[in-house]
Amino acid sequence: MTAALSMPGIADAPSLSLADAVRSITRTDLTPMIGEIDRDGVYPEAVMRKLGATGAFAQHLPLGNAAFSLDAAIDVMGIVGEACLSTAFCMWCQDALGWYISNSSNEKLKAGTLAAAASGQILGGTGLSNPMKHFYGIEPLRLRGRRVDGGYVVKGVLPWVSNLGPDHHFGAVFEREDKPGHFVMAIVPCASEGLTLSQNTQFVALDGTRTYAVQMRDVFLSEDVIVADPIDEYLKKIRAGFVLLQAGMAFGLIEGAIQLMEQARTSLHHVNKYLPEQPEQFREQLAGMKELVSKLCETPYDPSPSYWRQVIEARLVAGDATVAAAHAAMLHQGARGYVSNGAAQRRLREAYFVAIVTPATKQLRKMLAEMPA
Ligand SMILES: Cc1cc2nc3c(=O)[nH]c(=O)nc-3n(C[C@H](O)[C@H](O)[C@H](O)COP(=O)(O)OP(=O)(O)OC[C@H]3O[C@@H](n4cnc5c(N)ncnc54)[C@H](O)[C@@H]3O)c2cc1C
Repeated sequence: MTAALSMPGIADAPSLSLADAVRSITRTDLTPMIGEIDRDGVYPEAVMRKLGATGAFAQHLPLGNAAFSLDAAIDVMGIVGEACLSTAFCMWCQDALGWYISNSSNEKLKAGTLAAAASGQILGGTGLSNPMKHFYGIEPLRLRGRRVDGGYVVKGVLPWVSNLGPDHHFGAVFEREDKPGHFVMAIVPCASEGLTLSQNTQFVALDGTRTYAVQMRDVFLSEDVIVADPIDEYLKKIRAGFVLLQAGMAFGLIEGAIQLMEQARTSLHHVNKYLPEQPEQFREQLAGMKELVSKLCETPYDPSPSYWRQVIEARLVAGDATVAAAHAAMLHQGARGYVSNGAAQRRLREAYFVAIVTPATKQLRKMLAEMPA
């Protein structure tokens, strides 16, 4: 495991390894509030800030010549995801934000936001579900922009963007009105004039992720916040990292589900042993998935179609395995998992999110069906 990077806002020379520090934050700060996050939609902001200060959001960022590791970012997201998928998803949102900024060639954008996003001083996320679905022929693009002096003026609505707040930021893609087919990406400050956040949906899980509908009414985005213009080459560069990082959510939840199966075994083995799926099978599958993802994480900029296909296949397997493991945990836990504060029913509700967040299972299957074999 990589140690915390030396950057402003990230504690130097940590006395604990990063993994141990994240485990300790999970145990002492996050675990006591999991019920509130799940039941009352409480956003774990203090936990996110603390994770940022340990370097949890900096591991995967290409910063000059320093080594970077998507694998390390996935590991720490997994540690948190063992306990709470809402927080693991907020970590993914934050990681995606840093990934976008660090891969941009806009030096002003990087100078203004990269260190703060890497250390969790700036929090935020990504509104890229809509463009990801658009570019694979699933839905129209929702944001439009027109060129003005010094930047763009953008309008439209994104129905769901998570890990937001009045002072947060998110990545977004818009199409130029005057040049159809020309797409631009920016890091949008939520504090921009003309931007409103509204929260009018209650989810069955993941409600503590500060997921908002974002309305943009002629929001001015200066050149300083443009990530890529046009985005074609840039998107190819970031797409594998975007998808691979989601493995942290899957691996964490699967590990948590295995632990629930093992716990139930202490008193219920005499009957649970007849269930067709046992924790050992999931542990073996998890180890195989981790090995593959780790290998794929070594070359996130590989442009080859065969690499992209492997990333998509790995993501599909991870989503399916997450739902299967949470389902098995529910059966192993029985009635103790079915009570309103039981962990197994929460994990099952959370697990479906891994399979429906973009790229959702159905989109992954469409992509694979349309790719060369
Ligand atoms: C808790 C949560 C957090 C999310 N966070 C983000 C995020 O941070 N960034 C991001 O870009 N995306 C986010 N999403 C969206 C997510 O990534 C997927 O795009 C979404 O779950 C739907 O994906 P799908 O492929 O199943 O599409 P489908 O559900 O098949 O179709 C989606 C489309 O259907 C319409 N639709 C269907 N039901 C509703 C409804 N009840 N309300 C409004 N529209 C509806 C919308 O037009 C929407 O675009 C979030 C979704 C959820 C549930």
